[in-house]
Amino acid sequence: MKLILLGTGSPIPNPDRAGPATLVRTNTDNILFDCGRGVVMRLAKAGLVPPLLSGVVLTHLHSDHVCDLNDVITTHWIMNPVPSTLRIIGPHGTKHFVDVTLASLSLDIGYRLTHHADLNQGPLVDVLEIDAGTSFTLGQHDIFTGATDHRPVEPSLAYRISEGAESVVIAGDGVPCASLDELVFGASAYVQTVVRPALVQQIPSARLQDILEYHSSVEQAADTARRAGVKALVLTHMVPPPAPGSEDEWRALASAFEGLVVMGDDLVTLDLDTMTVTT
Ligand SMILES: [Zn+2]
Ligand SMILES: [Zn+2]
Repeated sequence: MKLILLGTGSPIPNPDRAGPATLVRTNTDNILFDCGRGVVMRLAKAGLVPPLLSGVVLTHLHSDHVCDLNDVITTHWIMNPVPSTLRIIGPHGTKHFVDVTLASLSLDIGYRLTHHADLNQGPLVDVLEIDAGTSFTLGQHDIFTGATDHRPVEPSLAYRISEGAESVVIAGDGVPCASLDELVFGASAYVQTVVRPALVQQIPSARLQDILEYHSSVEQAADTARRAGVKALVLTHMVPPPAPGSEDEWRALASAFEGLVVMGDDLVTLDLDTMTVTT
């Protein structure tokens, strides 16, 4: 099983970081978690196109995590030689978001149906809204969910997927909480979006300070990883984005955790079977 960080940015535009999106590749499935800015481009760089996805799983409905779902839906539809249903799983609110996304695409869908004689229906989607503490099957995998604390964003979910002896938790945004601890416990790898409060506090923007309330610091992520006994902590969605050469500084903040700390850059890949990282 491989974890590929397709996008490691945040809402703050960055030329080198696509928006939040993580791909899990197993022997049987390609599962996309979140659909941030530029996700289809990064999928292409990883050698995939949307028709090859088993499904899309959303952690929450903040715009930075879902803004390019429209592109995944359209590209999945247009590139498929035969009608194919895109599965989309997410917390409550996902059906509404998909409905309005499809509504926003209605003119384009009409143009393409008019123009292409071999297209006789619009995009097919199958949306499942899932509760924390439950599971669902996608491809050959049972995926387990846990609530995250990203209030006032509610609900927000983390997901755990396994293949063989290895498992990975995609935690999305949020501060530490008991349900996240429970989901991460004993996993091989834990992917957490993180901020560095001391750096963010130097930026004179009240709106930016607000983000500190509902994202884990690097230290908090390291504590969660240590409590759970994971082998690897994967840092992503870093705010501010790490300055070149500052990677050791970030790792030092995670020193409470003694396992492998992976600094997220776009397309960094963690092989869960060998615990090796490639860039
Ligand atoms: Zn968020
Ligand atoms: Zn976010």
